[in-house]
This record gives sequence, C-alpha cells and structure tokens, in this order.
Amino acid sequence: MSIIHTHLKPLLIAQIRTFAAVLAVFFLVTQAIGQEGSASPGIRVAIRLMDDGRVTQVVVDKWDRVGIHGDFGTHSWGALEYLSMKRTFQKFMDRSSGASWLLLGELQLERDDPRGDKESEASFLQALRRDPALESQIDAARGRGSEVDRLREEAARIEAAEQLREGLPAGVTWTARPWPVLDDAQQAQAVIEMREDSQALLEEAGFENAQPVETRYFLVYSALPARETASLVRQLDGMYLKVTELLGIPGGLNLFWGKASIFICRTSEEFRLIEAQAFKNMVTPGVIGLCHQRGPKVFVNTFRAQDDLQFASTLVHETVHGIMHRFISPVRLPTWADEGFAEYVAGRSFRGSPVDSNRRPQGLDFIRSGGDVSSVVDMSYQDGSWPGEQAVGYAVGYLLCTTMIRENPGGFADWVRAVKAGKDWKSALEDEYGVSSDRLVSFVRQWHLTND
Ligand SMILES: [Zn+2]
Repeated sequence: MSIIHTHLKPLLIAQIRTFAAVLAVFFLVTQAIGQEGSASPGIRVAIRLMDDGRVTQVVVDKWDRVGIHGDFGTHSWGALEYLSMKRTFQKFMDRSSGASWLLLGELQLERDDPRGDKESEASFLQALRRDPALESQIDAARGRGSEVDRLREEAARIEAAEQLREGLPAGVTWTARPWPVLDDAQQAQAVIEMREDSQALLEEAGFENAQPVETRYFLVYSALPARETASLVRQLDGMYLKVTELLGIPGGLNLFWGKASIFICRTSEEFRLIEAQAFKNMVTPGVIGLCHQRGPKVFVNTFRAQDDLQFASTLVHETVHGIMHRFISPVRLPTWADEGFAEYVAGRSFRGSPVDSNRRPQGLDFIRSGGDVSSVVDMSYQDGSWPGEQAVGYAVGYLLCTTMIRENPGGFADWVRAVKAGKDWKSALEDEYGVSSDRLVSFVRQWHLTND
C-alpha cells in the first residue's frame, strides 16, 4: 500500500476515517493493472528522494507497482521526488504496454504536484493509443486521483483548523469548549442545513422560495437587482480572505459551519421586517446590519445603504462578528473589543473604508472633552448600557483596539486567543497583553489627548 501511503504521510491520514476504505479500494484496482520486472545484475540509477532531496545512487534488482527494490530495501514511487519518480519509472516500464502508461499516469495524478495533474493526461493518452480498451480504467483512475486530491485537501484543512486552537499562550488552559472541526461530508451537510434554515427564516418574513447565490464561504440572499448582487458577490470572498488574513487565519480556511448566510434587503423596512418576523428582534433605530449567531450557525442581515462604502463597511463589520463567533470557540470578547475589533477590520479590509474617518473624530472628541473611557470599557450588551450616547462605544472601542494592535499586535492576538479559550478578559489582558485594564484605559486616554 506504500504507493499512496508514503507521500500522504505528512497529512495525518489518521484524522480521516474514510481514508482506509478509499485506500483499500485503490489498492485492489491498481493491483489489477500492476506491472513489474526484474534485472540481473541490477541496474544502477540515480534517484532523488522526497525526504532529504538528495540524489542517491542505487542498484535496482526489481521494480513493480509499489516501487523499486534492491540491497537498499524498497523505495515506493511516492517516496521519490516527482521528476525522479517519472524518469525512473520510464526507465523500467514497458513502453509498448498500455497498462504501464496507465499506471504511470495514475502515479503522476496522485502526486501533490501541479506537473502531475497535467502530465498524467499525456500518459493516459499514451495508454489509450496502445490499448483503446483501457478507456474505462483510465476514467476510473481519474476518479481515484481526484478523490485523493480531495482527501489531501480535506486533511490539510482539518489540520489547519485544529492548529488554530492549539498553541495557546503559555500558561493558558482550556475552560471553554472549542468548536469541533467538521470533515467534508459534515460541511456539505451543514451547507444544506444552512440553506433550509435560511429559506425558512425568510419565509417567516414573507419572502417565499428565496434562492441564494452561493460563494465559497457565503449563501447570499439578495433582494437587489441581479447585476448589483453579482458585483457584490464577486467581492465577498475577497473580503473574507482579507478579514481572515488580518486575523492571522491561514490561506482561505473556511471557519463557518457550512457557510454563513447573508441577507441583503433593499430597504430599512425589509431589514426590520426580517428582524422582527424571522429573528424576533425589534431593531433600535439607526441599526443598519446585524449578525445572528444560532449555535454554530451565522446569519447576517443588512440592507443596501445609499453609500457604497458605508454599505461595504457594514457588511464587513457584521461578517467579522460571524467569523469571530466561529474563531476557536464561541466565547465573546468584552463588548468594547467585540465591536471595536469589528470596526478595526472594517476600516482596513478595503480601500476607501469610511470607518476611521467616522469613528476617530468622535472618539477623540469624547476623550478631549473629558469623557470617561473606563465607563465605555464597562459597558455591555447584556446590561443594555452599550453603545452609550450617540453610540460612542463604537468610537472608543475602535480607538482602544486600534491602539492595542498598533502597540503590540502579537499581544493582542494572544489576548484574543486566551479569552477564546475561556480566560477572564481582564486577567488575560494583564497576563497576555501585559497591562491592566486601568493602565490600558489611561494610556489610550493620554495618547489621544495629544495624538490624532
Ligand atoms: Zn457590531
């Protein structure tokens, strides 16, 4: 079984239950088309191994579909660097045999190497020329190849998702429950459920049979004209990537349970209707977007503002809430940071964002006219004190987060992780960020008295 085993070893195969079953099927099929041969005396070849990348001379006595054998033992084809595998295989293969070309094509397709995907087709073509009866076997090989690709990507995604919650700052232990990591089949099922839930929610508000535009990360239910929706949808995944990049989440990893649903209404009235009917929520005036978290599920509801940039920043802001809900665990940051960070990201994730020019002057004004920053730090959703008069909490929360990240981005990230693991935010601020809440407040106040 070493053909596949060897080159997938770094991907923690054990994480995937179905892998063994797929390997078993794969093994049976390749066995049937296996080729082999022996040489006496052995043939000397130079090979390059994946492990150390060095070129080694070996004498090959025997080769088969598993790999090459000799005094050195066995090197599976997967243990050889791509080009070396191809050349060595071609040296030993029977070039007149369609089955040999088929096996080479499959070995090429199996590799996590862009050359393999392309060159396997050339090998399959050679196989077909020699033996047209191989057509269905070639199709089957293509199918197995794409399944191995999928498994490789699934394993990499699961590993990346699990790594997110590892590496807590020193001394921090889990008291919260991290989100479980879903495999591909569970994710696909979750997307189906998100579609059903979204449709049911919209029906409650009188929108029958709503159909989403589906992107890599989102289900977008839009009441806007098709052209406007299309241009918006094109930007959404890019925005997700930018947001996750700011959060230090690697390469496009989808944190959502399935996908996040986004409802885009035409008017404030539609938006409020959905809030009232679907989410049983009476919206306070001035609210232009909301993120609802139901267990692992994320629903964003918003309406199209006149101003493009304002609308974009609302969408980002609400989506950040959704991402933060799904980041490591559902534990929330204190309200000032939950909102301040969403504004921080909304201010930096696209060109021309109006967030800084909206929030900063209001925050500066509050501080310079003697406003009490610590009162904002004490505000919360729960007791109804957030966001204060003229929503000043957003402006001050924005300045607090912006300052924290500017002064010590690593400390900020550690603080977020510690809170997500369940640590009390004030102790985490002292231990992970290195200041008490009082000192943070007085620093932010002092700084903005004299700096814009
Ligand atoms: Zn918010």
